[in-house]
Amino acid sequence: MLVLFDIDGTLLQTGGAGVSGFLQAGKHLYGEEFSLDGIVLAGRLDPAIHRDAAKASGVQVSDNDRFREEYTRRLKELLDSGARRSEPLPGARAFVDHIAHSGEYICGVLTGNWSNSGRLKLQAAGIDPEDFAVQAWAEDADTRPGLVEVALQRWRDMGGTGDGAQAIIVGDTPHDVRCGQAHGCRTLAVATGPVLRYELEAAGADRVVDDLEDLADLIGWLEGSNL
Ligand SMILES: [Mg+2]
Repeated sequence: MLVLFDIDGTLLQTGGAGVSGFLQAGKHLYGEEFSLDGIVLAGRLDPAIHRDAAKASGVQVSDNDRFREEYTRRLKELLDSGARRSEPLPGARAFVDHIAHSGEYICGVLTGNWSNSGRLKLQAAGIDPEDFAVQAWAEDADTRPGLVEVALQRWRDMGGTGDGAQAIIVGDTPHDVRCGQAHGCRTLAVATGPVLRYELEAAGADRVVDDLEDLADLIGWLEGSNL
């Protein structure tokens, strides 16, 4: 069984480092008019947020890679200086640790973060990016469902079944739920992000939890004994 974790709002919160770094990079590259006002962030891919913010701010996107570099540099500064802190959410580290090291599962990450910024956020929250044997980052596909296909292919490349029905998506937004549904994955939604519990239920998540603290309950559900 492959368990694919989202990052922001699911495993950790960055105390606003992500948004601040994004804004700083945009203002540096495009000018003060660059803004994230009115842009939906949660559950979306960083390149899409960059594109939408530039458009809404009336600035021309020059170079996606340059923005990514600048954003990563700013994010690292914010986290390294202690200006903002990346903190694991309740139970997240123990859950990842169990999935990565019990030998029963393949642990994966599936996120709208670019790989370099996503790794920084994980490391700053005390989660080892190398715990994730399967990795699908924003640069790997244009959409979140596309990232699921990438993750399933990478699992197949490792000798896994690559079957969506054998994969679990763990995330904090309806985007996470829907990308799992698109590939027949079971979905575990956690209400530690900006989305309320009833919205995750309305999106059709197979299970909604308030946080990831009850490891035995989560494992029971994964194993199907607790549906
Ligand atoms: Mg999230």
